[in-house]
Amino acid sequence: MAKCICCEMSGAQYEHFDGGYVCDNCVGSYFTCPDCGRVFDRDDYVHGDAGNGFCAECAADH
Ligand SMILES: [Zn+2]
Ligand SMILES: [Zn+2]
Repeated sequence: MAKCICCEMSGAQYEHFDGGYVCDNCVGSYFTCPDCGRVFDRDDYVHGDAGNGFCAECAADH
């Protein structure tokens, strides 16, 4: 089982774009892209929320 990069609890299942996984408890403090399902830091405006609810990579398709 993957360890959460935020709290280090095992059983993390949300993939962080920069590597590693985030658990259920911590995913709320991240931005989740509904298209690719990856999570991003909330203050990461380069890779994360492009302003339309998708990450920078997926925003082009919407
Ligand atoms: Zn966690
Ligand atoms: Zn995405």
